[in-house]
Amino acid sequence: MRLAFSGHGASRGLALGRARVRRPHALEIAEQRVPAARVKEEAARLHEALEATRAEMRALREKLQGALSKEAIEFIDLHALLLDDPELVQALDALIHQERYSAGYALRVQRDRLAAVFQSMDDAYLRARLDDLDHIIGRVNAHLHRHDPLPRGTAGEVLVCDNVAPSELAQLQAQGVVAIVSAAGSPLSHTAILARSLHMPLVVGAAEVLTRINDGDVVMVDGESGQLVLDPDATDLRRYRELEQRDQRERRDLERLRSKPTRTRDGVDIALYANAESREDVARAHAVGAAGVGLYRTEFLFLQDRDTPDEEEQFLAYRDAVLAMGGRPVTFRTLDLGADKADRAGLALANEDNPALGVRGVRLSLLYDVVFDTQLRAIVRASAYGPVRVLVPMVSCREEVLIVRRRLRRAVAAVRRRGVAVQVPPLGAMIEVPAAAIGVHGLADAVDFLSVGTNDLVQYLLAVDRNNDALGDLYSPLHPGVLRLIAHVLRAGNEHGVPVAVCGEMAGDPRLAPLRLALGLREFSLHPAGLLELRRAIRDCDLARLQARAPHLLQARDRRGIERWLEAS
Ligand code: PEP
Ligand code: MG
Repeated sequence: MRLAFSGHGASRGLALGRARVRRPHALEIAEQRVPAARVKEEAARLHEALEATRAEMRALREKLQGALSKEAIEFIDLHALLLDDPELVQALDALIHQERYSAGYALRVQRDRLAAVFQSMDDAYLRARLDDLDHIIGRVNAHLHRHDPLPRGTAGEVLVCDNVAPSELAQLQAQGVVAIVSAAGSPLSHTAILARSLHMPLVVGAAEVLTRINDGDVVMVDGESGQLVLDPDATDLRRYRELEQRDQRERRDLERLRSKPTRTRDGVDIALYANAESREDVARAHAVGAAGVGLYRTEFLFLQDRDTPDEEEQFLAYRDAVLAMGGRPVTFRTLDLGADKADRAGLALANEDNPALGVRGVRLSLLYDVVFDTQLRAIVRASAYGPVRVLVPMVSCREEVLIVRRRLRRAVAAVRRRGVAVQVPPLGAMIEVPAAAIGVHGLADAVDFLSVGTNDLVQYLLAVDRNNDALGDLYSPLHPGVLRLIAHVLRAGNEHGVPVAVCGEMAGDPRLAPLRLALGLREFSLHPAGLLELRRAIRDCDLARLQARAPHLLQARDRRGIERWLEAS
């Protein structure tokens, strides 16, 4: 029966397909028994998965020896100990042999038993070890299913799930999934950012989907408006075709702007750079005439694989990006793992109570000396092929920038010793932490450029988790505090002669173009898929008029006031 409901559009694009429903929690495995004749084989499968997990942990430990803090090594050791715990292994064997449970179901039963013991403990530290248990069981479970064939018929299907991690997206796309609909998630999450980059339609925060949609149902997805229709009728299908045609027409119109300058009606040039997560993004950035890459999110290289990319692999990726931009600068942001960007190799710490305030961004890089120096050398080597800049994420104080500058110089010296002539690339700091924004004078004279990361700045300034959909409209750059802080950063940048760009999602929203120009911003970095649309919006703006109205914008007392200002633009 036809049913329409909605979530939040997180990555535009239309899709029509059959649903593939993925229930939350990989370990919610239904009770499953194997025939007596297969019990031995099932136990062997479990032991193979246990051994593969042990080998994985040994490899991780070896690889990161010397690069990891003592605490992080301790976590790996703790996980290895859990894995060898006779209680766990014997109990799993018993469940398979005596109950004839499948290896996956035995894992789930034993996990639940141990979880009950952990939860009943008085000691908060021991109670918290449940996370470690889940982590390790999850790894074993992943090995159990490693050789599973891809679910048949995934191609052309819409994945309906609780949530999806950024590291899963590329694989889902390779499997032919045409759109993703999740009950949780937010348009500002890294998953959403990556989905936009992969052109994968995504609707998030559609709370009802897991209860309303079943495997095989036909679903119509509009990743822009967030509208979903289950069992669409003839009228819906007609609308779908119309929307498709409208999209095509609009794309054709925008294509005409490819070689046009990004210039306001009164003749002021605005610099539009591109954000990139992949080789394809860089190619698109070049194709739409971006001034360069303003934010290359290097962590996405670390999200693909279980292995941390080595210097050579990183160098090749960075060099190719530089070559693809044909002389326009590429701004490599150093590793920004942590919080919702958990890599598959396990660099990001998995045991933080409050990961958004934890070891992420530059903090993580400064923890893993070897990983960071390797990355800096790879970036510096790439700079021999064209202009490169280095951007540091999650900076909260001047000291961090000074350390990074020293490390960057050291990387340059190391590369020069190999006979490659390179200069120290310009170094910039992201302004994402409120204290860095307020105290920007202390940073501005230590860097060559600044880039405001509004996704995190808004989250930290307003104390609103960018991934928590339940907070709804509270997460918004249209807050007087946000605008004033950006204006403050810009003033400081101008005083110090340091350019200030904006590279968060706020930079790309064409509806906010007049507001950003009125604030005095002249440099933006956004996903290349939205660059032409923003160019069109900027070409419609009259800068002198906006500047005359700027004081009213900064006097707005609430969101409504800012919206009224925008409506009058
Ligand atoms: C930001 O925080 O605005 C930003 C560009 O970084 P990311 O979205 O990758 O955290
Ligand atoms: Mg950020």
